[in-house]
Amino acid sequence: MMFGDQLDVLEKSLWFFCCFLPVNVGEDCPVFDGLFEFCQLSAGGSAAGSVKLNRQQTDIAVNWAGGLHHAKKSEASGFCYVNDIVLAILELLKYHQRVLYIDIDIHHGDGVEEAFYTTDRVMTVSFHKYGEYFPGTGDLRDIGAGKGKYYAVNFPLRDGIDDESYEQIFKPVMAKVMEMYQPSAVVLQCGADSLSGDRLGCFNLTIRGHAKCVEYIRSFNLPLLMLGGGGYTIRNVARCWTYETAVALDTDIPDELPYNDYFEYFGPDFKLHISPSNMTNQNTQEYTDKIKQRLFENLRMLPHAPGVQMQAIPEDAVPDDTVDEDAEDPDKRISIRAADKRIACEEEFSDSEDEGQGGRRNTANHKKGAKRPKVDEDKKESEEKKVDVKEEDKTKESSSEKAESKSTVKTEQTSSA
Ligand SMILES: [Zn+2]
Repeated sequence: MMFGDQLDVLEKSLWFFCCFLPVNVGEDCPVFDGLFEFCQLSAGGSAAGSVKLNRQQTDIAVNWAGGLHHAKKSEASGFCYVNDIVLAILELLKYHQRVLYIDIDIHHGDGVEEAFYTTDRVMTVSFHKYGEYFPGTGDLRDIGAGKGKYYAVNFPLRDGIDDESYEQIFKPVMAKVMEMYQPSAVVLQCGADSLSGDRLGCFNLTIRGHAKCVEYIRSFNLPLLMLGGGGYTIRNVARCWTYETAVALDTDIPDELPYNDYFEYFGPDFKLHISPSNMTNQNTQEYTDKIKQRLFENLRMLPHAPGVQMQAIPEDAVPDDTVDEDAEDPDKRISIRAADKRIACEEEFSDSEDEGQGGRRNTANHKKGAKRPKVDEDKKESEEKKVDVKEEDKTKESSSEKAESKSTVKTEQTSSA
């Protein structure tokens, strides 16, 4: 289904939803004034973030109004009405073979896991409190099904996890996931209810500890969509996502808060960072080591980086105003520059010569200007007049092949969302 249709369906189902109050709208998902607009902004923001990443217009896209990981295809759940994450991942799948979803909210990312439970095109990894806790799913033994077997990863945790233990589980698990799965895009749900002092949460992370996850994932230099999520001690949510925005930008910001309209909320210390509490960490080394070992055993079952069949790319969720393809003469060759603007992740879909140096899984291919070296090389060669006419034609042909590949490449539709 095209995204435009999806939005239509979304709009219709939202109206239906607001009018007829389906399952679970009520207690934790009340209908409120402006609900429709809220869902539009939240879901639209994440989808637009994916479009920007797909077009290589940014390396990191952020939507703090997104990350509503509990919403199901036809059920609102846990303060989540529309699963913006699933919509955003579907958008990324138009250009990316494998998308990695990581969830550091204290709650299990059940809606996203469910949507992609039977596919290997999305791997979901959730670190969450498990045991008599909402939503009740996310057992260590839930690993995906069918083609998606071993592509769902769950790290169940107990109360009171601190920065040190979290880092000791997060980094090795994610390193192994990256190595085995080799995603070409990453979605990170940064739910802030895993922070110390959250009104609903029971972990003991500081903002620095939470943001270490962002820092680590950022270090892989893959197209990254950062989303919000839970967080119920509001002043700490604002602190956390402010700091994580700075981490995304690789910028230092002072601990002293600048004066602002909400300054009084941040008393008595008026600082950016928070201290952990003295609560007991019930996640013993022995416990986390055991879980880690079990997850590694599952990850070893994965084939390295599964491939995907080639299919037509569905339309982008947001139309690109800069290119009017209808106005172009299809029989006319396009310039290398114009061909370069047509983004098709070439790394694993094409056997043509214009793959970047260093093999097919060069993650740098997704970065801006990744194709430039080849173009620059061509330019240099022609400047040096080493290229004869035949060769030049070949180059042009390969650039028009490249242009064509946009319409022939990839994506296997995922039925969920
Ligand atoms: Zn949560």
